Amino acid sequence: MRVLILGGTGEAAALAARVATIPGIEAIASLAGRTREPSMPLGNVRIGGFGGVSGLVTYLRQMQIDILIDATHPFANQISFNAAAAAHEVGIPRLMLIRPPWEKIEGDRWMEVDSNTTAAAVLENQAKRVFLTVGRQELAVFAHLKDIWFLMRMIDPPGEDALVPPGVILCDRGPFALDNEKEILIQHNIDTIVSKNSGGDATYAKIIAARELGVQVVMVNRPAIPAGEKVPDIDSVVAWLREKLPS
Ligand code: NAP
Repeated sequence: MRVLILGGTGEAAALAARVATIPGIEAIASLAGRTREPSMPLGNVRIGGFGGVSGLVTYLRQMQIDILIDATHPFANQISFNAAAAAHEVGIPRLMLIRPPWEKIEGDRWMEVDSNTTAAAVLENQAKRVFLTVGRQELAVFAHLKDIWFLMRMIDPPGEDALVPPGVILCDRGPFALDNEKEILIQHNIDTIVSKNSGGDATYAKIIAARELGVQVVMVNRPAIPAGEKVPDIDSVVAWLREKLPS
């Protein structure tokens, strides 16, 4: 049984490693190619876009893929909608691995918004020193906020021509520890964090740090994802795959 795992997340890499150990399954992991040095899953990896739905359909047919696992990031919804359409067209099962979002708990000072654009509008009125953790591709939305100082954390630096808000760029990759996140907030006198509601453990420490230090979080809610079967963790994907294996 040949399985294509759409990746770009820590879970996808871990899933690819797990699936590689299941007899009877051959897994191919797929990355968009956004980061310079991706944490590569074990086994077969292909890198780069497919060329929309039609490109993915062609790939699924050429490679004789039997099952599609969408383990992409909750905010990467274009590829998820493409995967849904392509799997439907080819007539193969598709499963989404989607980690649960973070839930607001007592002590959290969250302002929930539906887009980075709305996050930028919120900042304009009430922030002076912001820890911006939404990623390299989203910086331009905040670039007009010249009266705010930003600490911008991302895996790779932005391109030379990128529109970047005033402040400092910090290139780093999770998982991040609570002590590290607290030190960042204190050292840079941060009053507001902007974060996607990514869910998972790897980047949750900044949310705990904000809670403990009373820092406001502008939390960007997730975009819509396609209908279809969803599971929250790797074990559930493995169990689902084992059920699909011919006995
Ligand atoms: P996106 O908007 O959903 O996808 C844009 C295009 O990138 C897709 O149409 C597809 O190109 C290509 N693509 C995306 N994921 C791919 C994959 N796993 N394999 C092959 N092609 C892929 O995605 P995005 O938000 O730019 O994110 C890109 C990648 O980074 C994703 O794989 C995601 O898991 C990872 N990531 C995203 C975020 C985030 O916040 N968005 C955070 C962490 C990691 P074609 O149409 O040419 O096939």
